[in-house]
Amino acid sequence: PARETEESGSLADLLRQYGCGPIPFTGEDGLYERHLIFDNVSAPQAAGCRERFEAASRSVRDVLSQRWVATEATYGLKNPKRVYYLSMEFLIGRSLSNNITNLLLDPVVKQLVEKKKIDPIEFLEQEPDAGLGNGGLGRLAACFLDSMATMQLPAMGYGLRYEYGIFRQSIKDGWQVEQPDNWLRRPDPWEVERFSEAVEVKLNASFELSGGSLRVIPGQPSSLLGIPFDRPIVGFGGKTINTLRLWSTAVPNYFDFAKFSGGDFVAALAGTLGGESLTRVLYPDDSTSLGQGLRFMQEYFLVACSLADLVRRFRQSNADWNNLPAKVAIQMNDTHPSLAVPELMRILLDEAQLEWDQAWDLTQRTLAYTNHTLLPEALEKWPVAWFEILRPRLLEIIYEINRRFLDEARKRFPGDEERIVRMSLVEEGEARKIRMANMAIVGSHSTNGVAAIHSNLLRTITVRDLAEMFPERFNNKTNGVTPRRWLRLANPALSRIITEAIGDGWITDLGQLRKLQPLAEDRSFQEAFLRAKGEAKSAFADWLKATTGQEVDPETLFDCQVKRIHEYRRQLLNVLRIIVLYHRLRDDPGLDLLPRTFFFAGKAAPAYRLAKLIIKLINNLAGTIDGDPAVAGRLKVVFLPDYCVSLAERLISASDVSNQISTAGYEASGTSNMKFMMNGALTLGTRDGATIEMAEEAGEENFFFFGLTADHVVGSRGWYDPWWHYENEPETRAALDLIASDAFSRYEPGVFMPICEALMKTGDFYRHLADLASYLEADRRLCELYRNPQGWARMAILNIAGSGKFSSDRTIAEYAADIWGVKPCPVSIPKK
Ligand code: PLP
Repeated sequence: PARETEESGSLADLLRQYGCGPIPFTGEDGLYERHLIFDNVSAPQAAGCRERFEAASRSVRDVLSQRWVATEATYGLKNPKRVYYLSMEFLIGRSLSNNITNLLLDPVVKQLVEKKKIDPIEFLEQEPDAGLGNGGLGRLAACFLDSMATMQLPAMGYGLRYEYGIFRQSIKDGWQVEQPDNWLRRPDPWEVERFSEAVEVKLNASFELSGGSLRVIPGQPSSLLGIPFDRPIVGFGGKTINTLRLWSTAVPNYFDFAKFSGGDFVAALAGTLGGESLTRVLYPDDSTSLGQGLRFMQEYFLVACSLADLVRRFRQSNADWNNLPAKVAIQMNDTHPSLAVPELMRILLDEAQLEWDQAWDLTQRTLAYTNHTLLPEALEKWPVAWFEILRPRLLEIIYEINRRFLDEARKRFPGDEERIVRMSLVEEGEARKIRMANMAIVGSHSTNGVAAIHSNLLRTITVRDLAEMFPERFNNKTNGVTPRRWLRLANPALSRIITEAIGDGWITDLGQLRKLQPLAEDRSFQEAFLRAKGEAKSAFADWLKATTGQEVDPETLFDCQVKRIHEYRRQLLNVLRIIVLYHRLRDDPGLDLLPRTFFFAGKAAPAYRLAKLIIKLINNLAGTIDGDPAVAGRLKVVFLPDYCVSLAERLISASDVSNQISTAGYEASGTSNMKFMMNGALTLGTRDGATIEMAEEAGEENFFFFGLTADHVVGSRGWYDPWWHYENEPETRAALDLIASDAFSRYEPGVFMPICEALMKTGDFYRHLADLASYLEADRRLCELYRNPQGWARMAILNIAGSGKFSSDRTIAEYAADIWGVKPCPVSIPKK
């Protein structure tokens, strides 16, 4: 038939001859149907939920693609100063609903969903969470990208494309079980592979698989390819579409045909497996550096690929290397990408052939570092031997940086050799190590903490010597979160009443929430708030029932603690509180106790045994309470498995109470604390991290603070004795006795002994018992208020009104002005 119509036919004629209709190219239906038919080459009626999700995502991507291209073209043309945010983690979560929100496509999608009779929950649940991060640090990076795009800043994120993200957690017999998160098993509709922009990373070693493990062969140079996969970052309103570029490893010679022909099929592939294992999996440790070699290589791979890429882009528009700090700002998210210091020096010295002093000046002025934690176990130190094997040139450079730096330090602090030893980039000892935080501070122009208290402790305790040497480099940037995902998307009911009351300017200017302050006294707004909260709680309860079968009563107070499980975060303190309440009820069944549901969620690092035991205790406590008719309907404990961004979105919006109860001085900032606050939950907390600043904004009288301050904790190190609390506080003793007497472990006697030992025998390092009594007292005040719905609503509204500071837009504006010196670069659409 083709030949017969060659002369006359249009494409439509031709298709008609084939018995086909026109290709549906137009309208929103057209976009969607085209993907349904042509991407999978199957009948739309036969498409399953997953295929429908992919088609919808691709349709949304179609909507943003031209703008995405125009964004990059604008940056190329205008050559503004650009920010590159280097992070080993981006905890992105789901993209479809977020991109629909930010592109303002909600009404179009709503119509389509109705017309096509799509079940929105089933449909959205098809998208796996992109869990390329452990917790706060990775989620912060994702919020920052959202803010930078919304504020039209020329910015780009660089990370790794882990094939397996943070493990999936399930619970078996109360214990955490880890399963791989194979999130890329099905094609990801958002990512765009850009093979033509692959970069080569040279190493001074090769890898081989031997006996099932990866062996490094020193002295045998090899190279790896970094393949970029780009994801769109949609600014609110869709004006700017920035890029998150994630690197995946590939091996240049991926198949050894000679070995294959010789019959050794496994050996033929071994080289590929070795090299390509590098970006296989995210390390699941939060605030801990276990010092594995593969992790060190991941960090170098991220840095080498990203710097090669951004330097190539810089050179396209700039002939003079001296312009580097005027055109490029690189932010290192924690020390994980701090190999950027010697790598940028290597590029400037060896490739650009600059003199040392000039290269060093440009490096320092280009790089900036964010510190995320004060925990000693989190501070990265890498063995010198690994540098020697992998990239000896970097070690030469580090030694030279250190030599010059220590010369300068000796001039500043003559005769103070102890200080010099503390400040050195090299830690002497049996195995010499490079201190990555020292290197990041010495090699950059800015070091910031992530909340006021954290920045102060960093400066005055953790890296005091370096802060005394370079006081002008130290600053604070209190974290923030994006109100697009965490309020507008996560909490439609609350967003609606806020917009009805003050307009929608808050979405990009969260400070406008202050306008709600007078409405805290307004009866009808209080009622609207309570209705919105009730709606979110019911939606959560319905979702939980539909997806897990678990039932919770939205009429009870929802009290939450959701975050990584760690001793310093004191989920154990929360457990002790609940055991005391349980004990009170058992003692006096007639007690007038406010009906409550306690939610816990969070993952423990797979090697962190005590944290895993805490999860077990929470689950066993939940089981004991559920099985006790004396407390039925009054207390309930729920451990929600597999905490992730999308669970956080659902739960935080539905919460009445947020527990932020870390040992004071240990939580750098926290970000879930801010999300709860802007969703109208009240905080039961210690004076730690950004929670302190939250109370400053909302007024301390609207917070439920308790416990030791950071100064008290430090001051108590010499004399604190948990036994004093055991002996003098009957409720503390009762709670501990219940755990020790196997009240929650009848069938596994002794299983919780390590917990009792951590609290009593080894000195209760995180001061649980010191804070339990004041926690219970704060809890009592909070419950009293909850019995008065208007008073509760008033306080919650004052919290929302005070949460404006905690938008990541504010944080990013501060980074842009104080550290990066970047300005918005609005996208211009080229004239046809
Ligand atoms: N993990 C997930 C999935 C989150 O969504 C968040 C914040 O919302 C965090 C971790 C960080 O929580 P936190 O600040 O309580 O440590």
